[in-house]
Amino acid sequence: MTILKKVLEKLFREELDIHHRLLNLILSAALIGGVVSFATTLALESFLSAAVVAVLLFVVLFSLYLSVFHNQVKVAAILITSMANMVIFPWMYFCSGGLYGGMPIWFVLGLIFTWLILKGTVCYCMYALNLVAMIGCILLGIYHPELLVQMPDGYMERDIIQAMVIVSCIIGVIFQYQTHVYEKQRQKIMEQDEQLRIANQAKSQFLANMSHEIRTPINGIVGMNAVLLKNCDTCDAEEIREYAKNIQSASQTLLSIVNDILDISKIESGKMEIIPMEYELFSILNDCYNMTKARANAKDLDFELEVDSKVPSMLYGDEVHVRQVINNFLSNAVKYTKEGQVILRMGYEWVEKDKILLKIEVEDTGVGIRKSDMDKLFLNFTRVDEQKNRSIEGTGLGLSLTKNLVELMGGKIHVTSEYGKGSVFSAVIPQQVVNAEPLGGFAQKYQQFVHTAETNLHTLLAPEAKILVVDDVEMNIKVAQSYLKQTGARVDTAYSGAECLRMIGKERYDIIFLDHMMPEMDGIDTLKAMKQSRTHLNVETPVIVLTANVIAGAREKYLEEGFSDYLSKPIHEEQLMEILCKYLPKELIEMKESKEQATDTGKQRTLAERFPTLNIELGMNYCMNDEAFFLEMVETYIRGEKREVLEKEYAEESWKNYQVHTHSLKSTSLNIGAETLSEHAKALEFAAKEENYPYIREHHAEVMKEYEELLKELQKGMEAAE
Ligand code: ADP
Repeated sequence: MTILKKVLEKLFREELDIHHRLLNLILSAALIGGVVSFATTLALESFLSAAVVAVLLFVVLFSLYLSVFHNQVKVAAILITSMANMVIFPWMYFCSGGLYGGMPIWFVLGLIFTWLILKGTVCYCMYALNLVAMIGCILLGIYHPELLVQMPDGYMERDIIQAMVIVSCIIGVIFQYQTHVYEKQRQKIMEQDEQLRIANQAKSQFLANMSHEIRTPINGIVGMNAVLLKNCDTCDAEEIREYAKNIQSASQTLLSIVNDILDISKIESGKMEIIPMEYELFSILNDCYNMTKARANAKDLDFELEVDSKVPSMLYGDEVHVRQVINNFLSNAVKYTKEGQVILRMGYEWVEKDKILLKIEVEDTGVGIRKSDMDKLFLNFTRVDEQKNRSIEGTGLGLSLTKNLVELMGGKIHVTSEYGKGSVFSAVIPQQVVNAEPLGGFAQKYQQFVHTAETNLHTLLAPEAKILVVDDVEMNIKVAQSYLKQTGARVDTAYSGAECLRMIGKERYDIIFLDHMMPEMDGIDTLKAMKQSRTHLNVETPVIVLTANVIAGAREKYLEEGFSDYLSKPIHEEQLMEILCKYLPKELIEMKESKEQATDTGKQRTLAERFPTLNIELGMNYCMNDEAFFLEMVETYIRGEKREVLEKEYAEESWKNYQVHTHSLKSTSLNIGAETLSEHAKALEFAAKEENYPYIREHHAEVMKEYEELLKELQKGMEAAE
């Protein structure tokens, strides 16, 4: 049965054109007829007749062979039509009474075959030849009746009827077959049309969703950037950071959409590659947990991880794609769940000695999916239940991409869902095991990880290091000193560029923090002088610029000037530690246990009563939440007051120095939380920089008054403590 099916499939497969299939049909019929007639001839007639039939049978077989195995349709068709119309039919014509029998009807069939199985010029030529042969036979029969074998009475009627029945049946079957093929093709075209229509609709829908999806982050980026550009001169570092964060988050959204599209097109063009590498399962779980935890928290969803503690800790596989699969499941689960919980489960099963099936499962208590929508879930660009999910942003690419990725990695994906109750998306992915040591409890490992991360951040020790801090403002030096003190390093200080140059000739430092805005010789001039003189001991020492100039492009500008890096003022502890970590020689750095860093809000409240105009939270933040240090800073601020020098520079119109001193008033004020004065000082600084003297003349007095009042308040606040 299967052999017959295979033969039929080979003879009439769909990729063959209709001529070819008809040829195979005719040759097969001729083969069957030939075999039957060979057997009967051999049994009932002479050996010679059987030999002739055998030769003809061989020609049929050979034609079939050419047609089926070598696609030589034309040759086979010429062979068979010539043989039928110029050999078999003429021979039968003369042997069965010529015009007085059924042969003329067979001649017509022979001529029709020519049209059916041949195409183009060959068809016309063969038809003409066959026609000539047929007419020749008829004329020869008429003019030489002695050549015709005379048939007995009654034979003619029988033969004609028989020929009419057989030939009309053959032609009928051929027409039926042709109609059948045509119908099938028509249906196929209609199905393809429908599929194309659906795909086209899905693509249009996708484009509409996509332009919305892409436009949202682009609008965010353009809008935020416009605000930044407009306000960059007046924004403080914190605001700029906030805008930059928003721009970064919008850019990441945009990037992930574009990446999804690229991934889909890579998969469609067969160019997506699986790049295996060794990876730690914990790192994937940790990242997925952190990313999803934040999103779930924002929606008040409970997020749980249930990880088999025995799952091997180190695997070999395409880490990036495994991560992508889990994240896609998780982000959908959070996206399509209003309340309740999302659970990420991870398990495994050994399949070979060094190979496991990694089982990933994400369960949610969300909107669920209708049974009728299940088939559409993994189609490209297709979103389901759009009415209900209208308010949820999406492109309909995630699941299709996830399925493709899982299958590319040799895995399988599965979904079960109850509409209105929730869904479970799961994937099993084969992965090699590098280290079979069990992962252990995720929660415990996670705590350990967080602890280590915090420890790393706050407990850098470098007792052997020598650090130089150069700043003209005592308060800034104190802040830097107090942060650096924790590291145990030796901290030297210089109050001007000239002093710095003297010190670097005497001592070799491991890192130098150099303020930009200083009177007379500023940071850039000092650095240039350092670079010019190759005789001092700090030719190799990294120099970090300290600056309150945190406008866009500032970093690049300072790097161009020759600084190794830059640290914005007021100094943030983490940033300072990062710089130390990066630039201090590794052998000088040690880590120690984490330290307490609780914010004492009670203390802040009393401070707020003592210094009502200050933003105590901000000031305390800059002072490591250390009240004593904060008060020391306030005292230094009072001591280092600049009213006299500012008034003098204003009176003498010494604008360059005025700019330097308003600059330092800006940053020292911010350091103790005097935000408003800091803002106003900044405005004066910029006016001096831009030579906008009318602005200075208009506002100098009022800022000085504000400064004076602040100093009075600070004085009072300090006395209240004593
Ligand atoms: P997108 O979320 O961007 O629309 P996906 O390909 O990730 O695209 O998902 C396709 C569709 O499957 C979604 O539009 C949504 O209707 C449905 N879906 C996916 N995940 C869930 C889920 N966890 N719960 C309910 N529906 C889901």
